[in-house]
Parts: sequence; structure tokens; C-alpha cells
Amino acid sequence: MKTILTGIRSNSALTLGNYLGALLPMVRLANKHSDEYQINIFVPDLHSIISDVDGDLQKNIIRTIKYYLAAGLKLNENVHIYRQSHIPAHSELCWILDCVATMGETSRMIQYKEKSKGQESCNVGIFNYPILMAADILLYDAEYIPLGEDQFQHIELTRNLAMRFNHRFGAEIFTVPVSTAEQVKFMGVSDGIRIRDLLNPEKKMSKSTVAENSKIMLDDEPAKAAKKIMSATTDSIGKIKFDMWGQPGISNLLQIEALVTDAPLQDVIATWAGQTRYGDLKKKVAESVSEMLTIFQAELAKISDERVYELLEDGEEYANRVANAKLLEAQRAFGLR
Ligand code: ATP
Ligand code: MG
Repeated sequence: MKTILTGIRSNSALTLGNYLGALLPMVRLANKHSDEYQINIFVPDLHSIISDVDGDLQKNIIRTIKYYLAAGLKLNENVHIYRQSHIPAHSELCWILDCVATMGETSRMIQYKEKSKGQESCNVGIFNYPILMAADILLYDAEYIPLGEDQFQHIELTRNLAMRFNHRFGAEIFTVPVSTAEQVKFMGVSDGIRIRDLLNPEKKMSKSTVAENSKIMLDDEPAKAAKKIMSATTDSIGKIKFDMWGQPGISNLLQIEALVTDAPLQDVIATWAGQTRYGDLKKKVAESVSEMLTIFQAELAKISDERVYELLEDGEEYANRVANAKLLEAQRAFGLR
């Protein structure tokens, strides 16, 4: 069985953008494929500590897992949830791959360049995390890793490291993940979903944006979220049209409406096309978002910490077994075992 692997950092609470653009598509993909694929969902907590954590990391980790469950993730014997830091093989293989990767290729990573820019003393983790990410993937022979475009370079790095390792030892020790072009095809999206900042719709909604009214958080009170939608920036054109360049604010509202009500975007666009009262659209989207949050938060409240720990115990037993077996192969190749 082929493996699909995915994770989301839990450094802070998540936004509606994270939910609609990353969490929900992943849950749908997992539910759709869980009888033909192995699905690994993990919390990359070792990746969390390369930057600041907002709040209590432990609590954030458990909450992230609850988000997946509240979003409708269906569990069966092919779906596993685990925490990266509870599988020591990730760090071990990271070191081995460090000795396979070159400074040249690792220094070229755009994420590293961006994240280290302007930082007087950048920690080594920021530089090294693509290698840890390669270990996250290669330990499980994962072929499909649904990710945003910003991570494509890291997939290519992972592929190169796997091929180099296999070539060096003349054995197919690691499964090479499919190319990013094939990843995109597998995800079934032509271009990714990008929810916009409510106040500055030319930008995407980001959890690290300081302005509260720019973003909707998954734990916002539904009435508060509705108010944020009502105060979203639009434009002075006065006609509702889906045009991300010309009318990003209005287009963002149409996109949100489609996603939270699970309606095809084309239908939502057709319903509102040519109408002139922005207030009516805002009111409808505000209602839809607050309804979605009410349901989501009620689901979230039903999931106990005990349930999460139970699932983690199972998932980590599985993950340690698979990862340790792969690590041993890599250690043997080098003569470490
Ligand atoms: P930060 O401000 O810390 O970068 P972020 O909100 O951009 O936070 P990330 O941790 O960078 O979130 O990304 C987590 C996941 O959410 C990624 O898969 C990313 O593609 C997705 N994502 C982030 N923002 C949006 C958005 N506005 N619309 C759709 N998907 C998004
Ligand atoms: Mg981001």
C-alpha cells in the first residue's frame, strides 16, 4: 500500500485560511483514499521549536489533533496519527541525511533564505529543517505529500537525497516521492486555495498577522467572526464579480462562502453575479461562517484529551515500528549496524 503523509505545525491557533486551505482538503483526501492508501498524519513538533511558539506547545499539539478529528477525519486501520518527537528515528535519520546532503543544495532553500533574512543570529534548526523533513518522509516510504507550493523545493530536495542515498549504496533503501508536478495532480487541485486577509485582501490571511480583524481564528466566537466579515475591506466598484485581481475583497468573500457551505465556487459566483449590494453578500457570508464555526466548535468540544492520547498511543506504536525498520536499513548501509 502506498503512503500519503501530511502534517501541520502547531505553533499557535489556526485561522480559517489554514482550515480551508490545508486541514479540510487533507481530511477529505484522507477520507477518500483510506481504503487504498496508508495515511500518516503527524504533528511536526520538532519543526515547531525552530521558531517561537505562541502559548503552550503541548496544548497546541493536542488541539491540532482535535482539529483534524473535528474536521471529520475518519479513522481506520490505515489512518495513523503521531507526534514527530515521539518517534526518535526522525532525528536519527536526519543526522544520517545531513551527512548525505551538501551545504550547497541546502543553502539554496528559499524558505531558509526568507526565514533567516534580517535575523542577526538564525538558529541551525532553520537551516536544517528541510533535512528533518526529508527524514519525516523517507522513513515511511511516503510517495504523496500534499503540501503548498512554498514546500515544493523541499520535496525536490527529499527526492534528490533519496536517489543519492540509493545510488551510493546500490540498493532501493528509500522510496523516492513522486515529483511535485505529480503531487499537484494527485491533490486534484489546479491552483491552491488562498484565503485573503480580510482587511488587506491583496495579501493572504496568515495566523502571524497582528491585526485581529484581518483573520478569523478557528476558536473565535461565531458572533465575533461574523463581525469581522462585516468589516472586511471591499472596493468601490459596486458590482459583485469574481475577479481576484480587480476585486480581491469581494472575490475572497465569494470563495469563503463556497468553501464553508461546501458549494461549488461557480454556483456561488453565479448566484451573486451582477448584484450591487455588498452588505447583503457580507451578511450571507457572515452567517455561513458563524454557522460553520458553531458546528466545528461543538464537534471540537466533544473530543476529550483522553481520546487524543489513546489515538496517539496506537499511532506512535505503528510509527515507531515502521520508522525503526527503515532507520535500521539506513544504519546498516553505512555500517553503523
Ligand atoms: P504564518 O503566518 O506563521 O506563516 P500561516 O497562516 O501562513 O502562518 P502556515 O503555518 O505557513 O500558516 O501554513 C500552514 C498551512 O496552511 C499550509 O499548508 C498553508 O499552505 C496553509 N495556508 C496558510 N494560509 C493560508 C490561506 N490564507 N489560505 C489557504 N491556505 C493557507
Ligand atoms: Mg505561512
